[in-house]
Amino acid sequence: MDLKTHIRSIPDFPKPGILFYDISTLLRDADAWQVAMTRMADIIRDYKPDYLAGLESRGFLFAAPLALKLGCGFVMLRKPGKLPGNVVGLDYTLEYRTDRIEAQADAVPPGARVVVVDDLLATGGTLSAGIRLLRQLGAEVPAAVTLIELSFLSGRDLIDVPFASLLQYD
Ligand code: 5GP
Repeated sequence: MDLKTHIRSIPDFPKPGILFYDISTLLRDADAWQVAMTRMADIIRDYKPDYLAGLESRGFLFAAPLALKLGCGFVMLRKPGKLPGNVVGLDYTLEYRTDRIEAQADAVPPGARVVVVDDLLATGGTLSAGIRLLRQLGAEVPAAVTLIELSFLSGRDLIDVPFASLLQYD
């Protein structure tokens, strides 16, 4: 199945000049979603993760079902102020702004193998922040995986672990 036929690109969203890759059309097709999950699971399995971490919010849509499929725990990396209890945060810079992600301080035990999952890699800032935050928690990050990679932005250069994507756009 050609999963690219299930991804829609929408011009000028969320801002003029940006071409947005919309995953809603894949998620609403039961067969396409199933195929995407099976292919991502086949990649991730080899890294023998204890947990999958998803980046808010579209990353959750992939990381949580993949964790169930692989028999792993699921961990949320969230926008600031969303998680209860003790949290650890990391500020990171994207092209035009600074952002922050947080995780619960006890999200994973030290030394746990955690694969980070998101829907899309663009500049790589978000995913690389997720990896660094997990390391702050004492996790080992053996790999990072996304559904889509915007190859022309060279985001994978920022990712210092093995990185794989199912669909690449030049
Ligand atoms: P980066 O930090 O790599 O520049 O941006 C990746 C993050 O922004 C991901 O969490 C992703 O959800 C979001 N993102 C950026 N552009 C797009 C897009 O075209 N489509 C989707 N679905 N997400 C995007």
